[in-house]
Amino acid sequence: MPHHQILHRVFGYEAFRGPQQAIVEHVITGGDALVLMPTGGGKSLCYQVPAIARQQAGLGATLVISPLIALMHDQVGALHEAGVSAAFLNSTLTSDEAYHIEQQLLRGEITVLYAAPERVSNARFLALLDSLFERGKLSLFAIDEAHCVSQWGHDFRPDYRNLTVLHERYPGVPRIALTATADDLTRADILERLQLQDARAFVSSFDRPNIRYTIVEKKDSTAQLLRFIAREHQGEAGIVYCQSRKKVEETAQTLVASGVQALAYHAGLDARVRQHNQDRFLREDGIVMVATIAFGMGIDKPDVRFVAHRDMPKNIEGYYQETGRAGRDGLPADAWMAYGLQDVVNQRRMIDESPASEEFKQIMRGKLDALLGLAEATDCRRVRLLSYFGERSQPCGNCDNCLSPPAVWDGTDAARKLLSTIYRIQQMSGMGFGAGHLMDIVRGKTTDKVTQYGHASLSTFGIGNDFSELQLRGVLRQLIAMGAVAVDAQAFNTLALTAQSRAVLKGEIAVLLRESVSSPTERKPRRQARLGAVVKAPIQLDSEGLLRYSALKAWRAEVAQQHNLPAYVIFHDATLAAIAQRAPQTLDDLQGISGIGAKKLDAYAGDVLKVVALQ
Ligand code: ADP
Ligand code: ZN
Repeated sequence: MPHHQILHRVFGYEAFRGPQQAIVEHVITGGDALVLMPTGGGKSLCYQVPAIARQQAGLGATLVISPLIALMHDQVGALHEAGVSAAFLNSTLTSDEAYHIEQQLLRGEITVLYAAPERVSNARFLALLDSLFERGKLSLFAIDEAHCVSQWGHDFRPDYRNLTVLHERYPGVPRIALTATADDLTRADILERLQLQDARAFVSSFDRPNIRYTIVEKKDSTAQLLRFIAREHQGEAGIVYCQSRKKVEETAQTLVASGVQALAYHAGLDARVRQHNQDRFLREDGIVMVATIAFGMGIDKPDVRFVAHRDMPKNIEGYYQETGRAGRDGLPADAWMAYGLQDVVNQRRMIDESPASEEFKQIMRGKLDALLGLAEATDCRRVRLLSYFGERSQPCGNCDNCLSPPAVWDGTDAARKLLSTIYRIQQMSGMGFGAGHLMDIVRGKTTDKVTQYGHASLSTFGIGNDFSELQLRGVLRQLIAMGAVAVDAQAFNTLALTAQSRAVLKGEIAVLLRESVSSPTERKPRRQARLGAVVKAPIQLDSEGLLRYSALKAWRAEVAQQHNLPAYVIFHDATLAAIAQRAPQTLDDLQGISGIGAKKLDAYAGDVLKVVALQ
């Protein structure tokens, strides 16, 4: 079957998206490819369509390397629903089950095989690939989440390094490596580590126009988070990222106590609990997963409506990868982050204290600075994000700064007051102090500590009492972000001047800050057809349509449960909504609705028509 026909018949889609067609054509004809495409861009089809085409051409099976054993069952299930013969080999299978799949493979009955990277170091697995290769039945290698090969990425998996065995041992078998994160450094690393220098690179725009970026200053981040969810995403699925396991637990409890259906996920939980929570998140509607970054890679749930960061991630790649899990279905979604002084201090400390080489730390600091720049930005967030990935763009109209441009004030004067106070304290006491004490001196507060050290006699005591504490904290955060103030983690987070301080003190560098907004501006709910919290459809439907839509969802839930798969694997919300709108009476009426391929039409059209007729 030609590739267009595979797209229509198997997946039920009208047209390829973006560079998909070029990639598919290149890979079908045996070319190597490196695909950089944002999450939700449609990477899976880039190897699934060639896998089907090449199998039909008698070239055999495609091996997909995927780091996520916990998701393989659903990935394979989704292919089965579309009528594609697929399987996985991993440690969850019994020896008999594995043997059965190996036999099927050797008989040429499997089109797509999923395996984790550690498999390629397994003798039995290599022997299997050897036999396929000898018969000319090893058609393609797809290396998913390819950034895992790079130590610059944030999901480094040493097993990925061994994947070079694939092309060394099986020369001539084409390879396609795919990732949603890669700045220049990571990209170069992927090419080198996987020896893909000769592969053709397909770089998509990294823009995710349906995601709205918002970064707020942390005040009471629990209350801020609760408000954000209550106002914008009641009853909707989302992910909340926290830095530590403890915070994950606490946040999940707080959310549950406030009536949000929240679950926790972190590496400290029992593997069974983790899998159970992940399954519930994928299979049930409207669950909020509170997690460390251990959660999320490969999660292909399309209707995650928001990703919230309670703490700042390490760098822009991490931030972009995590926020990218929102809105894969292309419908409006939010990326929300709260960030404060403590985040900056913590992230700097983690780098300083890590056992890595100085060169590595320098790179990590540079990456952190880029993220701080994004958080402090007063202009379009998306322009900044995209420029980090080497793309130029215009202000987007769909981020907090575009929607309500922040007032900017010149904090240079305040910055100089803070810096000279740090200098004078050091001079007078021969030691450094932390942020709180510094604020007290600059604002002229006579605390016990100020009295104890005689700091009221400093010439800068009270010099900044025309600034609020919030303003001064903002300035200090900016100074730390700029590297003009150092925080000594080994000595109670005391502050010290750096080589960069001079330029600010001398007025060579201006310190511009966003005016702190005391309360986030109210936003109107985005979707008009909210109709209470009863049913929310992705497109506007009349009341009859909504009835059909909810009946279809109920039917889908039943099927999904019978098949032990997430509901979206059966049909996406958008597909159900399109059916509800069209109110089909015959098979013909179902033609051309996106997401209904031949197999699904066969399997479900009867049921769907019945459900619609009953409404
Ligand atoms: P990625 O792996 O890049 O994050 P996926 O492969 O999961 O993205 O695709 C994201 C969503 O877009 C999926 O729900 C997929 O079915 C859908 N999709 C991909 N390509 C197309 C297309 N050409 N037409 C319509 N939908 C598509
Ligand atoms: Zn913008």
